[in-house]
Amino acid sequence: MQVYFDNASTTKIDSRVFETILPFLKDNYGNASSIHSLGRKARVAIESSRETIADFIGAIPSEIYFTSGGTEAINFIISGISKSNFLETNKNELLTSPIEHKAVIDTHKNLEQYGLTTKYLKIDNNGCFNLDSLCKNITSKTSLISLMHTNNEIGAINNIEQISDKLGENQFLFCDCVQAFGKTKIDVNTLKIHALSASAHKIYGPKGIGIAYIKSGTPLSPLLFGGSQERNRRGGTENVAAIVAFATAVIIAKSEMESNYKSVSKLNSYFQNGIVQIFGDKISINNSKKSTPYILSLTFRNEYFRNDIDTLLMSLDINGIAASQGSACTSGTIKPSHVILGIGKEINDANGTIRFSFNPKNTISEVDYVLGVLEKLGKHNSK
Ligand code: PLP
Repeated sequence: MQVYFDNASTTKIDSRVFETILPFLKDNYGNASSIHSLGRKARVAIESSRETIADFIGAIPSEIYFTSGGTEAINFIISGISKSNFLETNKNELLTSPIEHKAVIDTHKNLEQYGLTTKYLKIDNNGCFNLDSLCKNITSKTSLISLMHTNNEIGAINNIEQISDKLGENQFLFCDCVQAFGKTKIDVNTLKIHALSASAHKIYGPKGIGIAYIKSGTPLSPLLFGGSQERNRRGGTENVAAIVAFATAVIIAKSEMESNYKSVSKLNSYFQNGIVQIFGDKISINNSKKSTPYILSLTFRNEYFRNDIDTLLMSLDINGIAASQGSACTSGTIKPSHVILGIGKEINDANGTIRFSFNPKNTISEVDYVLGVLEKLGKHNSK
C-alpha cells in the first residue's frame, strides 16, 4: 500500500487544477505585458485570478502580489515593510516568535545587517503566543510584528484576531498563513492584519506560485527591480499558467473547505485514538484541541525508535508510507526541530518527533495500515 501523509510539505495537484494550466502553456502563451491579443488574454487571465484570490480573503485585487511561493512572499513582506518603515520613521525593532517557519526567522536574521533588531516572543507548551510577552515587548520603535496563523510542524493555531485587537490599528502585523489558507476561513478584515503569505502547492495547486497580500497604504520597498510588473514591486514576466492554476485551486478550496475539514478531522482523531491504544503513555501528541486537524505531530519515547527519526522515516518509506520529521525545509538535515525545542521539549524529544499530515482523500484504511506498520516497527525496535 502507498500512503501519502506528508501533505503539509506539499500536495498532489488536483486534476481540475492541472487542466487549467495546459492552455496557458500551449496556446495562450502571450506575455501579459504585450499589447497584442495574446498578451491581452494573458493579462485578463492574471487580473481575473487576482480578483478571485483577493475576494477569497476579503482583500482588494491591488493588494495581491504574485510571488514564486510562500518563502518569497515572506521575504518580500518582512523586508519590504520593515526596510521602508525604517527609512520613513526610523523604527528598527521587529517582533516574531521562535517557532515561525525558517523563511521568517532567517529573513529577520538577514535584516540585522541593515540595523534592524528582532525580539522573540514567549510561547506556551502548545505553541501559542503569550499575549503579555507581546505587549511587554512593544516599544515606540516597533516596526513590524510577524506571527504565524497555523504552525507547520505541530499544527498549533493562534488567535490572530485577539492579537490584532491588543495591538490596535497603527501596529503593522504580518501573518504567515501558508498552512491555513484554503483550509480554514481567512479574512484579512476579520483578522485585522496588514500582510499575509500563502502558497498554491499546499492546496492542490502547482509549486512555485504564491501570494503576498499587503494592505494598501502599508510602507513597502520593492522585492525585485527591473520590471513594472506587480505595481513596480516584483518585476519579472508573470507565470500566467501557475497564477491561473492557483486561482482554480482557490475556487475549489472555497467550495470544499468545510467537507475537507470534516474529513481530515475524522482521520486525525481516529489516528490519535489508535496511536494511544498502541503506545499508551509512551507517546506524546503535540497537538492541542486548538490545532489544525490537517497535522498530527507525535513524539515517540526513546525506547521505541531510539530517537533515530531518520531511520524510522526510512522504514516507513520502505513500507510505502510518506511522512516527515517536520518542516520540509529542515528534513534531510540532522538538526533537531526549532519548533519542538521552542515548545519546551528536549533535544531527545525533537529527535523522536514525526509529523503526519493529511488531505481529505486519505482514508481510514490508510490510517489503519500506518498504525499497523508503526506497531510492528515499535515492537521490533523495543526488543
Ligand atoms: N510558511 C509555512 C508555515 C510553511 O509551512 C511553508 C512551507 O512548508 C512556507 C512558509 C514556505 O512556503 P513555500 O514552500 O511555498 O516556499
